[in-house]
Amino acid sequence: MRIAVPSKGRLREPSIQLLHDAGLGPETPGDRALAFPCRNAPVEALLVRADDVPEYVQDGVVDCGITGLDIVRERGADVTELLQLGFGACTLEAAVPTESTAQSLEDIAGVRVATSFPRLAREFLPGPIDLVDVHGSVELAPRLGLADAIVDLVSSGSTLRTNGLRSIALLLQSEAVLIGPAEPTPEALHLAGVFRSVVDARGARYLMLNAPEDSLEAICALVPGSRAPSVLPLAEPGMVAVHSVIPATDVWSLLPALEAAGASSILLVPVERMLA
Ligand code: AMP
Repeated sequence: MRIAVPSKGRLREPSIQLLHDAGLGPETPGDRALAFPCRNAPVEALLVRADDVPEYVQDGVVDCGITGLDIVRERGADVTELLQLGFGACTLEAAVPTESTAQSLEDIAGVRVATSFPRLAREFLPGPIDLVDVHGSVELAPRLGLADAIVDLVSSGSTLRTNGLRSIALLLQSEAVLIGPAEPTPEALHLAGVFRSVVDARGARYLMLNAPEDSLEAICALVPGSRAPSVLPLAEPGMVAVHSVIPATDVWSLLPALEAAGASSILLVPVERMLA
């Protein structure tokens, strides 16, 4: 099977890393490679521009592809969004110069809007709108007098601030996605399942701890895990081990709470795969 992977930009390396972590054994491509095979699976990766991935997938040139959700929606391609991949997070936002009085999308109705996302801008902004189609450095357009507002991708917001801009609306939450054709092949669905097990595992940690039996109830009440924790007797009488899978985002607050509830010898290890 064939998968289209972004050839450059910020989605390239995390996409290749996903193939690694999924155990496909991608042959590390050189900077100029157009394709690379995988050692452990009958998968060939084609390196194409992130912008072109929806087209390749729609036309059936590849079984599936990785690109940004923003690009998929902007292209309006007839594809299936198989899986959100948990990297490349950003938002499509409408922004105006800091000194503008505009507070909402209604306030920029009819003004000139610079964007490289004309389709999404038309979809989300109340009409009529006067679009200035630019490719790259969209944030400069107001300062150059080309536009009064912009619609562009934002991750930290620092580029907006550096260019004297202020967001007035979030239009779309984006991240990297795996897409397949309108009717995905069994191979594409299989790969989506493999990727899902990796993406889910990245957000989880395996927790192990020891505790006196009489703190077990309090500890189990704290552990959020997807299922009931495993409780194993220890050689020391009155002591048990508790094992569970927990969301990585809970680690920060959970560990001190577990210690306070009587847990000791707490171990936290990464999870490689998670299948429900
Ligand atoms: P690039 O090829 O580096 O221009 O990135 C293309 C894709 O990366 C975009 O279409 C988004 O899906 C994603 N992305 C994540 N964060 C940002 C950001 N701050 N600016 C632009 N693209 C971003």
